[in-house]
Amino acid sequence: MNLQADIVTVKGVGPKTAAALRQAGIQTVGDLLYLLPRTYENYQTVTDIAHLRPGKVMVKGKITNLKTNRAFKRRLTITEGIIRDATGALRTLWFNQAYRERQFDPQREYYFSGTYEFRRGRYQLTSPTAVLAADVDAQPAGLQPLYSTRSGLKPALFRKLIMGLRPQFTTIPDLLPFTPGHPDFLYPGARAEALFAAHFPTTDADSQTARRYLAYEELFELILASKLNREANQRLKAIPLPFQAGFTRALVSSLPFQLTAAQRRAAWEIFQDLGRDLPMNRLLQGDVGSGKTVVAALAAAQAALYGHQAALLAPTAILAAQHYESLSKLFASLRLSSPPSSTNSATQPSTNSAAPRVPRLALLTSATKHKAALKAQIAAGEIDLVIGTHALLTDDTQFHSLALCIIDEQHRFGVAQRQKLLLKSPAATAPHLLAMTATPIPRSLQLTVFGDLDSSILNQLPAGRQPITTHLLPETEQQDQLYPAMRALLAAGQQIYWICPAIDAPAAEVAPNPSTTAAKAPSAQPPAAKPLTSVKRQAKKLAELFPDCRVGLLHGKLSPAEKDQVMSDFAAGRTHILVSTTVVEVGVNVPNANMIIIQDAEHYGLAQLHQLRGRVGRGDQPASCYLLTTGNQPPSRRLRELTKSTDGFYLAEVDLKLRGPGEIYGSLQHGALNLQFATLSDRRLVTAASHHAGEFARTPDQLSAYPELAARIKKYQQLTTLN
Ligand code: ADP
Ligand code: MG
Repeated sequence: MNLQADIVTVKGVGPKTAAALRQAGIQTVGDLLYLLPRTYENYQTVTDIAHLRPGKVMVKGKITNLKTNRAFKRRLTITEGIIRDATGALRTLWFNQAYRERQFDPQREYYFSGTYEFRRGRYQLTSPTAVLAADVDAQPAGLQPLYSTRSGLKPALFRKLIMGLRPQFTTIPDLLPFTPGHPDFLYPGARAEALFAAHFPTTDADSQTARRYLAYEELFELILASKLNREANQRLKAIPLPFQAGFTRALVSSLPFQLTAAQRRAAWEIFQDLGRDLPMNRLLQGDVGSGKTVVAALAAAQAALYGHQAALLAPTAILAAQHYESLSKLFASLRLSSPPSSTNSATQPSTNSAAPRVPRLALLTSATKHKAALKAQIAAGEIDLVIGTHALLTDDTQFHSLALCIIDEQHRFGVAQRQKLLLKSPAATAPHLLAMTATPIPRSLQLTVFGDLDSSILNQLPAGRQPITTHLLPETEQQDQLYPAMRALLAAGQQIYWICPAIDAPAAEVAPNPSTTAAKAPSAQPPAAKPLTSVKRQAKKLAELFPDCRVGLLHGKLSPAEKDQVMSDFAAGRTHILVSTTVVEVGVNVPNANMIIIQDAEHYGLAQLHQLRGRVGRGDQPASCYLLTTGNQPPSRRLRELTKSTDGFYLAEVDLKLRGPGEIYGSLQHGALNLQFATLSDRRLVTAASHHAGEFARTPDQLSAYPELAARIKKYQQLTTLN
């Protein structure tokens, strides 16, 4: 059987069915075979209707008296019928499956499997699956597959097509290479066996073994894709920026603080990479407040030193402006503290160690005035470090010699956006890439999806940081437990963030929150009864409660200029309480703000809450975070975890367990990372696949001998690459 063959080659698939299957994403024979049953049915467990007991049951009989009713006022149809066997009759019904009315031949027998229960005064069989008895009885005994509906295509179609292919399963070719390091459950014919057992297992254990093999396949492909990306990346040329000890020392000693050991280690790793003519592809992971920006600044200065350029891409205008300001300050102190020039031969770079060359900075966001003039300067190489938002990515932003790209909060950007920036380096070169994130990547993802990245970790906060205390507090107790604490803090001259989910009062205007709408936890949805709190209303309320304070108001509907104003007022201490939506979540740094209150805390995902909390505790004062909850539900697991830990790496692992990988990294980046069989937290399988794929990737050219594998990993290659 050729799994790459078009779906029309399957017996029973005409042009019309083929078109429908393609619509559902099933293009090839392989796509069809990898559509595994939702569950299995054992048709040996039929019970006579006369002897039914409540619970999961299977009966065999004919069905008559079918009719469909529409439930009053509800968008619900109820289709019901009477099933009969030799021993008795039974009422059955389905919800919103009106097609059932026309599905059955009253003269023929079917197997019905569903829940037998007592409802509204009588017994019924609720929402049974139904299969023509003749079909089942013609098959060998054992478990029989039940498929899901997919894009409107009925389970019966999949069942028919796959049953039709059953005799050919033994001819399914192997997929994975038997290269050194392969695990022992990989042997010739293993794939054919696994696919067969996944559709037609004899026992439950059979199907589990089969799915484990398929999970392995999936992990192998994912990991191989990322290793091959790395391989391809290594073939590109970058502009080498060798380490200059004197220059870096001068820069570091001009800082108002001592670098942490972790910052020094990360900077060292980065300098090693920058010195090579291979593009750096490095992820700088550091929990909120760990001081990533200064590490990035050291790298950017290195590019400027050699007369090349660096670009720093930030996800919001607020953040870009903040980076611009803090880096301007940082480099200005470099100018002040630069030692008198010592004699030095004019070796490359010419600007070396005489006086550190102070990088020239510019800020480019959509609010920037005189954009054209600034862009001309960038193109002429008169700017060394451009800090900006998406405005940086437009085609008319061109660089004289872009050698280094720094992407802050990299998970906020899509693959296409990153690529746009990376393509701005001089022809025939690739820029060095430093991606930064405070959303730590769990180890299991590091091994799989991000295997092509090098990573540096800031696992240490700057000295003098005080711990953040997190409180879970029902909203009803604000008066007693929160306001006094706020008063004390404000009296001490410190500042407060207050976060609400909505902008305007009516709850209907709330933008869906991507990190929770996807979450399966029903608790992520606020109870309909209580509308989400809006920043506007809350700002008013706080202004009344704290008449001596000035209250700032920040949300996404303000213009960039207004946002900047609000933010700089808060940063300068002109406002004392900042009421905001999550627009402050990303990276904003106001060290004098030491309390954050998050209203309707259940509305947010774990990673987002951790990010929000990271807005405080950035100075040398103790900080606190209040998670306000509504309703009388016990707090969810993610809120409880958050009170227990401030370790972003630990929380990321918890989040991965609670939500799964596709959702953590969001549709933005990994919408397609929808693993069908594997779970990334299966360390043993991940490690085995990583080892095996690593061996294979040593000689990447051999992939051409595995055309099906090559085709299958293409989708992952696009997914994982940073370049
Ligand atoms: P993040 O990693 O969250 O981006 P930032 O780079 O914004 O963190 O740094 C947070 C704050 O810590 C800033 O005010 C920065 O100046 C300060 N900082 C960074 N490194 C150190 C250090 N080694 N010692 C003291 N303060 C530091
Ligand atoms: Mg940051």
